[in-house]
Amino acid sequence: MNIPLPGPEMLVNGKFRTGPTQRDVINPATGQAFAKVYMADADIAHEAIASARAAQPAWGALAPLQRAAVMREIARLIRQDAEDYARLIVSEQGKTIKEARGEVGGAAEFFSYFSEFARRIQGEILPSDHAGEQIWVQRLPLGVVGAIIPWNYPFALVARKVAPALIAGNTVVLKSHEETPLSALAMARIFDRAGVPAGVVNILSGTGPEVGEALCTAPDIDLITMTGSVPTGKRIMANAAQNLTPVSLELGGKAPFIVMADADLDLAVRSAATSRYMNCGQVCICNERTYVERPVYDAFVEKFLAVSASLRVGDPMDPATDIGPKVNLAELEKVEARVAQALSEGAELLMGGHRPDHSPTEGGFYYTPTVLTGLRPDMAILRDETFGPVVPIVPFDTFDDVVEQANDSRYGLSAYLFTNDMRRIMRAVNEIDFGEIYVNRIGPESLQGFHTGFRNSGPGGDDGVHGLDKYLRKKTVYINYSGSNTVDLMPYPAG
Ligand code: NAD
Repeated sequence: MNIPLPGPEMLVNGKFRTGPTQRDVINPATGQAFAKVYMADADIAHEAIASARAAQPAWGALAPLQRAAVMREIARLIRQDAEDYARLIVSEQGKTIKEARGEVGGAAEFFSYFSEFARRIQGEILPSDHAGEQIWVQRLPLGVVGAIIPWNYPFALVARKVAPALIAGNTVVLKSHEETPLSALAMARIFDRAGVPAGVVNILSGTGPEVGEALCTAPDIDLITMTGSVPTGKRIMANAAQNLTPVSLELGGKAPFIVMADADLDLAVRSAATSRYMNCGQVCICNERTYVERPVYDAFVEKFLAVSASLRVGDPMDPATDIGPKVNLAELEKVEARVAQALSEGAELLMGGHRPDHSPTEGGFYYTPTVLTGLRPDMAILRDETFGPVVPIVPFDTFDDVVEQANDSRYGLSAYLFTNDMRRIMRAVNEIDFGEIYVNRIGPESLQGFHTGFRNSGPGGDDGVHGLDKYLRKKTVYINYSGSNTVDLMPYPAG
């Protein structure tokens, strides 16, 4: 590695500092601790918020091009040592090196993309109802952003939150997930080297109940942006409500993956497999439930089993590996329990359903690709997020039927449709009630799109112009330059 492992210290007010406790970082591929980090407490969180508040006026007052220059330098530094960051992600999170390279590239793109908004954050001038007046709507920084991220993209999600916040003129206090603090600490060192001024970005390692709650209940935070699970999202919303702090929540998903009989079957099979098994099934937009039209159901299942059987489960650092470990033992056990429950409710196991027993998976949190059929719509495996390499496949007879099953979910993040029938495509676009619809392709989502979910997938959204808008507040200004000396409260003629 050109870069060493990042030090265990956090970035607060431009300084790398320790915390009151330490925590091991575990490599999910081996189950062994390989690093230690300091953990913050609520006092350090409040210190970070104060430093972000103090730094914001000067950062917000810079010309946007000056902020963009710092962001371009961040992107350059990420790309310069991309392979090292990819290996760091693999070590603490367990995704394959191939995917980790994509994550690092994506992180750099967030900074490049949002730096382009330096000349594009603009207000509006509206005609007034009075002669000699104008109305302005200005778009201004919010102030201090509290950002809370999960473990599944520990490097890119720092960028997804920090990049739009910075170009908008905000300052940030970001808390990483307790399981994957190193990627955010590496990012902290990049921010420092890129010349981000003291206090503008603060990076904390810490637990949700202590540091997360301190951010969400702090009176001096202008937005909480969080990516994570539904239960945590609910708690954050309730806590933030104490101070009426706005929240943007990107929560879980239960994406339906629909394959019509006329679809390109090989494309659909490969897409369904990739969309389920990427990051060992730990992506919010993953194919969580596959629906296949009856005439091609048997052929789909046969091909899907063949593709699944060909995937190599093993050392995520090996470029030949397709599926690495789950992030930790608790997540592995959650998936095992979900499969056991489905089987006890009558599901049929076509493949997998256990941990692998081949080298080099000993000690790691691995699970084999698992395929289930014989399912009923009320089973948890079709209703709750699984977040693992488990594929429930369900046949259906009519388009109406599958749209109803797809929409019958408290989640509403992503949905997939594979067909070449334009009428069905348009009906799906109109009738499938999800925030993101992919037709004949899978994710990842694009920077210029808007990544958002309906229902319990959370009131929030990231990326693109709509994501950026969450980091801006609007101020309306009424300007009278008419020289008139009348005071007129009623501009509208009666009647
Ligand atoms: P999680 O909810 O357990 O943790 C997310 C973050 O919230 C962590 O940093 C955690 O420390 C923090 N947290 C926990 N309790 C808190 C509290 N009381 N107050 C404030 N912060 C608190 O989620 P996870 O297990 O890390 O991530 C997996 C989940 O994230 C899945 O449900 C997945 O679908 C979702 N996810 C969603 C998206 C999206 O864009 N919609 C993207 C990635 C992951």
